[in-house]
Amino acid sequence: MTRLPRQMAQQMVSMTCAPEIQPQSVALACRFCGAALRRTFVDLGMSPLCETYPSAAELGRGEMYFPLHVRVCEECFLVQLEEFESPEKIFRDYPYFSSYSDSWLQHCEEYCGKMIQRFGLGAQSFVAEVASNDGYLLQYFVRGGVPVLGIEPAANVAKVAIEKGVPTLVQFFGTQVARELAAQGRTADLVLGNNVLAQVPDLNDFVEGMKILLKPSGVLTLEFPHLLRLMELNQFDTIYHEHFSYFSMLTTQRILEAHGLKAFDVEELSSHGGSLRVYACRAEDGTRRVEPSVAEVIRQETMAELASMQGYERFASQALRTKRALLEFLLTAAREGKRVAGYGAPGKSATLLHYCGIGKDLIEYTVDRNPHKQGRFLPGTHIPIYHPERIRETKPDYVFILPWNLKDEIMQQLQFIREWGGRFVVPIPTVTVC
Ligand SMILES: [Zn+2]
Repeated sequence: MTRLPRQMAQQMVSMTCAPEIQPQSVALACRFCGAALRRTFVDLGMSPLCETYPSAAELGRGEMYFPLHVRVCEECFLVQLEEFESPEKIFRDYPYFSSYSDSWLQHCEEYCGKMIQRFGLGAQSFVAEVASNDGYLLQYFVRGGVPVLGIEPAANVAKVAIEKGVPTLVQFFGTQVARELAAQGRTADLVLGNNVLAQVPDLNDFVEGMKILLKPSGVLTLEFPHLLRLMELNQFDTIYHEHFSYFSMLTTQRILEAHGLKAFDVEELSSHGGSLRVYACRAEDGTRRVEPSVAEVIRQETMAELASMQGYERFASQALRTKRALLEFLLTAAREGKRVAGYGAPGKSATLLHYCGIGKDLIEYTVDRNPHKQGRFLPGTHIPIYHPERIRETKPDYVFILPWNLKDEIMQQLQFIREWGGRFVVPIPTVTVC
């Protein structure tokens, strides 16, 4: 008998004996504090990776589904999903280009103006953004004459940023990259991480990296969907595989403190269904006064019982009620022979459609302004994605708005559906027809 080379033998052993996905009985550990994760926040069943939009040729190949079983840590209350797919695989060739929403760009432009004014940023300053995408935000600092650096892992997206004059490093951010930049003297007056914290599997390495990248007097701003709003407004579809963590101010403060940072201000924003913008500085920076806003958000969260397990226990039944109401509406529409088209192909649609069991039989097609998604299909359900003109051509009775956080903008753009008596369906927080 020939002996297999040792490495190959080891590979074969690991292929047969060690499944990639751990069984439920294996205790999972909290991404932040390491405590055992024993409590379920909500179990949304199985769903495919939501930012993989198959082409017609790929439809016959089958797709991987992963559990969307969300847990909450009893020690630090971080709401979290297990990481099944490596960020390298998810984000290397990421089809999401931030620049495809008007209201989002406006939000970014306002942010830049505000930071320039509040922190006196100018030609002598340096701004670094982690997960800078296609330069959607940094472009406004560039226009304001403030030197910037974007750090973005998806090469195809970073290329677009560089083409529009936003210097971008194609890297996954963490302590290693931060140390390299700091060694080159490239620490920043403003470090920003907008809508990225949720997507980081190694949370501690990432936050530590942000601190390393900060000048002693630098300011860090973080924007993320606020867990309190997610729960209050029933936004269970914002839970998906690319988002590993869901943050309250209470937990964020603990994370910042663990890394020698302190939150000194927080704003509540309407973006993504209700977000927080947290301002932090190094803990030893005595020049910044902690604004009353921090205690106010903490007070709201404490009132909602987010500082104890009770607050987290109601969420699962709330999601289930919405699922049933949505199915009831769509099944009635189908029975009455009404035609339903979708609008948008956001990541979150995968969770909503899979958890609720909605397929092509209930939503014929969807449309999206992003040309990279047109001609492709939603993952799992294979609902086709067309150019928005399709709605004018087919005159559906209902337009089901999948990115409900942009519903006002979308309803304004699609006012013409009123010409044939068309109506809009907004699924979250409760099914609304308008
Ligand atoms: Zn924890």
